[in-house]
Amino acid sequence: MNSEAMSITVNNISKYFGSQKALDDVSFEISKGEIVGFLGPNGAGKSTLMKILTGYITADNGKARIDGLELEEKIPEVQKRIGYLPEHNPLYTEMFVREYLRFNASVYNIGKDRIEEIIKLTGLTPEANKKIDQLSKGYRQRVGLAAALLHDPEVLILDEPTTGLDPNQLVEIRTLIKNIGKNNSEDKAGKTVFLSTHIMQEVEAICDRVIIINNGKIVADKNLKELREGNDQIIFVEFDYRIEEIALQKIPNLTSAKNTGGFTYELIFNTKKDMRPAVFDFAHDNGLKTLQLNQKTKNLENLFTEVTSS
Ligand code: ADP
Ligand code: MG
Repeated sequence: MNSEAMSITVNNISKYFGSQKALDDVSFEISKGEIVGFLGPNGAGKSTLMKILTGYITADNGKARIDGLELEEKIPEVQKRIGYLPEHNPLYTEMFVREYLRFNASVYNIGKDRIEEIIKLTGLTPEANKKIDQLSKGYRQRVGLAAALLHDPEVLILDEPTTGLDPNQLVEIRTLIKNIGKNNSEDKAGKTVFLSTHIMQEVEAICDRVIIINNGKIVADKNLKELREGNDQIIFVEFDYRIEEIALQKIPNLTSAKNTGGFTYELIFNTKKDMRPAVFDFAHDNGLKTLQLNQKTKNLENLFTEVTSS
């Protein structure tokens, strides 16, 4: 694809801390306006990649581009296009909300009107005259998001934006992020949002796409709509004796068959139709007895378990 249409391009990035490899040959591309969840267990490498993309640390190998701009060469230019909410959201808690945002705005020469607009957009109006240390965690996250949005960046990089929030705050911040991803004055495609999380439900609630990282490696990259439509059906079947995998190919719609030990097989089908009757009939026609037959659709939960269990 044309790199101009890409918001974020990551090519073969690796990063070591001493002898430990935190990122191992990471590559992916994110188009303008996509909301992408960067999902992985703690310690997988999410924050490290985000710090590289925002220019806070450098990669040992590989290249990244934001909006077509080479990161290494143009850090200040790139940072203008990025809104970054770091993990643990460091704030000056002694400052008042509006004062803090004014302080941040002064770095970019941003006027008062824009500050008020952002206060409104992030739902901070009732809290704007409070000290940051008087705010709940949810409102502190709003302040962090407001600061990240002040200069109207095209790309938002949010590192675990809802970690530590209570259930109500969580829903509010998710809705806010979703809305930010959707509307944008000039750009019809909306902002590109790249957010990290270790919570699957977070991805389900906010994202169009998920990139899963485990031990510094990208292990899955999936469109959530496709995943939700659930065309991948998995059937676990146990027969009373062994049959060659090749013979199982006679079952319609089968995409793969694997013996998982004993006389048990994992069969994958690419159809919405329940294939259990066809498996049962196949067994019967081949003189086999069906001892167990279980079906599930591939969803984010079993995909996550499958790719992060090593
Ligand atoms: P995540 O954000 O997915 O939880 P991180 O990117 O923070 O993971 O960390 C990835 C790995 O790199 C972890 O094993 C972590 O301990 C290690 N790591 C991160 N930052 C440093 C650092 N500054 N020095 C040494 N090791 C680090
Ligand atoms: Mg992290």
